[in-house]
Amino acid sequence: MDSVFYAALANDSLAGVQPSAELCEKILTDPEIELLPLLNAAYTVRKAHWGKTVQVHILNNAANGKCPEDCSYCTQAKTSDVDIEEYSMKSTDEILAEAKRAYENGAFRYCMVFSGRGPSKGRAEQLAGLVRQIKDAYPLEVCVSAGLLDDEKAKVLADAGLDRLNHNLNTSEEHYADICTTHTYRDRLETLRAAKRNGLETCSGLIAGMGEPASDLVEIATTLRELGAESIPVNFLLPFEGNELVEPVGLSPDYCLRVLCMFRFMNPTAEIRCSAGREFHLRSLEVMALYPANSLFLEGYLNAKGAASNRTYQMITDAGFEIVSDFSAESLLAEAQAHVVSNEQPVDIGGSSAVKTIADLRPTQ
Ligand code: SF4
Repeated sequence: MDSVFYAALANDSLAGVQPSAELCEKILTDPEIELLPLLNAAYTVRKAHWGKTVQVHILNNAANGKCPEDCSYCTQAKTSDVDIEEYSMKSTDEILAEAKRAYENGAFRYCMVFSGRGPSKGRAEQLAGLVRQIKDAYPLEVCVSAGLLDDEKAKVLADAGLDRLNHNLNTSEEHYADICTTHTYRDRLETLRAAKRNGLETCSGLIAGMGEPASDLVEIATTLRELGAESIPVNFLLPFEGNELVEPVGLSPDYCLRVLCMFRFMNPTAEIRCSAGREFHLRSLEVMALYPANSLFLEGYLNAKGAASNRTYQMITDAGFEIVSDFSAESLLAEAQAHVVSNEQPVDIGGSSAVKTIADLRPTQ
């Protein structure tokens, strides 16, 4: 492809022109499209909307495991045999202490994740109380991931000042029954619509590498554009021995970067987060994710370990990007270096993802 092709990709995306499904599929699969000019075109769009900033998110598994659903990629599913630390909802004091820690560690956004199908009305009100307390105590953006929600529960959370609701679509409608049988793609879409109707920002993404064709990823990117998702976590399937779905399919570093670029062209203003699988699948090309994506997780993903914080901060600053935080990059890096855990390893040598320990999941206890 000549330079006109790459320039048109960036310019059309910046002008709000929706890329065709055919073009998006080409971005994912056509070897004639070279990675470096593609990344540069995606970076042009990213820079126009987000500059060189990187938003850092820290996840809190506020309730872990024991989920009655059967999502085949998830270590918390009833069908998973992965040996994770299971616990019911953490106390308010513990969640507040972890919010403080996340703020002091440079998090822009604090994401509380509750395993399960969805909250009862009483649980939704309890979550709303938590959101109020965190927002009163720290200048953090707060995101909640709590399963399926209707309008009533979405409103309870919105009234409490929740900034954003996470609920991933994960895969296309057509492929959904292959990865989960206890709820449907429509259930997930309705939750996102309820969030939107009640004034919440939506965070919704995907998991690539579950055996889906490239066209499925294009379909998800298109649906998220139509939905106006403000935030899109792009996950790459992590292999966990004991999950129903173990082996990632087709995830080379090159392909992962193409996926990120395609999502950037299709969703030019969205906060695109290079999420689970960043270390595992991008390997030596990990830093290149910052050119299409403007957001990362720190300290791993749900039950999977990620890179040590100091390494992630070093990567961001080495590449000349800016961490969005009340604290300077130098102080964040120094703090993270002072707390390096020597055995922090995102990947077991055997090729399976390393599972978080109780010390990772409950660091303030
Ligand atoms: S993805 Fe959510 S709903 Fe599905 S098994 Fe995991 S915790 Fe349960």
